[in-house]
Amino acid sequence: MEKINFKRYGLYLIRWQLSTPILAGVLYVLSMLDKLTATVVANLIGGLIFFWVDKFIFTSHLLTAQWEIKDEVFCVDCGKKARGYRLVKAKGYDKTSDPRPQFRCEECSAKKTEELRKRGIEI
Ligand SMILES: [Zn+2]
Repeated sequence: MEKINFKRYGLYLIRWQLSTPILAGVLYVLSMLDKLTATVVANLIGGLIFFWVDKFIFTSHLLTAQWEIKDEVFCVDCGKKARGYRLVKAKGYDKTSDPRPQFRCEECSAKKTEELRKRGIEI
C-alpha cells in the first residue's frame, strides 16, 4: 500500500466538510423542486466545483513537498542556533536518505527555498 500523504488526506477531509454547507445551501435554494430533482442538481453543482478541488488535492506537486523541522540546530549557512528546517522531498528532489541532513534557520531556509524554486523544484 502506498504511504499516506497526510497533507492530502487532511485537505480531503476538510473538502468533504466544505461540501456539506454548499450542497445544503443549494438544496435550500432549490426547495421548490421535488427532492429527487433538487438532489440531482445539487450533486451536479457539487461535482462541477469539487472535481477541480479534488484534482488539486490528488495531483498538486505542492502537496508532495515534505519538510523536516528540528527545534534546536545550528544553521548550516549562518551558524545561528535556531529552529531548523530542511526540505526532505519534492518533485525532482529527494533527500530522504541524506547521510548528512542540512538544517537552516528560518531566514536562510527562505533563501534556499527561493534558490531551489529558481532551479525548477516545485515547493
Ligand atoms: Zn541561517
